[in-house]
Amino acid sequence: MDPQREIQMHGHPNRAGWFTAGKVECDPIPPPREHPARIILLGPPGVGKGTQAVRLCARLRACHLSTGDVLRHAQCQHDRSPAMQAAIECMTRGELVAEELIIELVRERAGCLRCQGGFLLDGFPRTLRQAQALDQILADLGIQLDAAVCFELPLDQIVDRLSGRRVCPKCRLTYHVTAQPPSAAGICDGCGAALEQRADDRPESIAVRMKLYEEETQPLLQHYERAGLLVRVMASGSPDEIHLRAIETLQRQIDVPAPIAAPA
Ligand code: AMP
Repeated sequence: MDPQREIQMHGHPNRAGWFTAGKVECDPIPPPREHPARIILLGPPGVGKGTQAVRLCARLRACHLSTGDVLRHAQCQHDRSPAMQAAIECMTRGELVAEELIIELVRERAGCLRCQGGFLLDGFPRTLRQAQALDQILADLGIQLDAAVCFELPLDQIVDRLSGRRVCPKCRLTYHVTAQPPSAAGICDGCGAALEQRADDRPESIAVRMKLYEEETQPLLQHYERAGLLVRVMASGSPDEIHLRAIETLQRQIDVPAPIAAPA
């Protein structure tokens, strides 16, 4: 089933708590689950993590918590703190935001990690230091991670995916100019807004991001491998194929709920 439809059917929360650091309640508040999924998503920029996150969240009934989304959301707000403004400027240049600041942004949102609906954390941690900070935050909350899912793809395919990616600035649906084009060129199928290229998907920013990934994020894989949490998924093929592969692999590690049946 179309993941957006699946999300509508089970009343996916609007993540207000994540965007506002808990100043506003999510609507709806996720119902408690016996085994909430608590997963982090890893993989280089452009590997299709965002697309897979939407599908995985729909299937696992968990919330998509992306640190990049927090920054992009803040970008549209008028009352930005100087620290948030500095973080947004780093993002626009394709650089990583300072460790202390991004860790603080996540710590302020610990309520979302504790949420009984479960979570898929996307974009955090990105460095070993962030992973250690997350370990501490989760230990303080008495919460254990179920898995660290890493999507993998050869470099030339990653560059192609990033440079062709287009996003809707209003409803945040993601497209690709050739692999997943909208029905009308440049227009969002969901809300009709003009699609945009993210500033950090331009060639000069892509080069910076790939170098950072190699240097900073690779050690994370060893960290989670040692903890027995690493689940590797090859991200080649269509989004549906990748999703099925991810579910099959995850089923060996966690309790995956059955898909929501399509209406008769
Ligand atoms: P993403 O949507 O995950 O690709 O994140 C977009 C941008 O937000 C990144 O290129 C960084 O500038 C910033 N960002 C998001 N998460 C982090 C993080 N964990 N550490 C540092 N910077 C981050």
